[in-house]
Amino acid sequence: MDSIKAPPGNWACKVLSSRIPKTGEPYHEAFELALGAPIEHWGQQYAPSGPVKADVCFEFVNERVLAVVSVRAAFTLPCSRCLRETGVEASGELKYLFSLRPTRDSAAPDGCGAPEEDGDVDVIQVDSFQAELDVTQCVWEALLLSLPEGALCSPDCEGLCPICGKDRNEGDCGCRYDDLDPRLAVLRGLDV
Ligand SMILES: [Zn+2]
Ligand SMILES: [Zn+2]
Repeated sequence: MDSIKAPPGNWACKVLSSRIPKTGEPYHEAFELALGAPIEHWGQQYAPSGPVKADVCFEFVNERVLAVVSVRAAFTLPCSRCLRETGVEASGELKYLFSLRPTRDSAAPDGCGAPEEDGDVDVIQVDSFQAELDVTQCVWEALLLSLPEGALCSPDCEGLCPICGKDRNEGDCGCRYDDLDPRLAVLRGLDV
């Protein structure tokens, strides 16, 4: 199965701006999104165990729309030590600000089109708050950021033997690990 590095084409996380109260009350929209293939990230494959659940909370703040994107999903990936398939939970949150694109008259003479940031919040410029706000890419970014860098099948996983490659959780393979360290080999030669 091919892995993916971008949101699947059938993902559409959109909300009509008119649903968001101008009075500042939050408006929630929940999305349940299928992943047809493993995600490739951090140099490994995250195989989905179920759908991605996203909850986006929109609210008008100072004539801009703050979107708080929360995601939750379950995956399996190989244990970092023994490579056994291991289940992991991914959950995280990212914030975005939808802001009206400056009109030609009000735009600053320099800085045109420069990516804008507001503290730790990414700013997305839109032409109007009449149409839909698309948070598909936001959900995808929040999902990638929520993926754990690695997994352990158990906190005391013994891992694979560096000499013979056997899974040491299944028993001792009989290899002598001290053979790996030349300083120890010298000591053994002393025959204490
Ligand atoms: Zn393991
Ligand atoms: Zn071994």
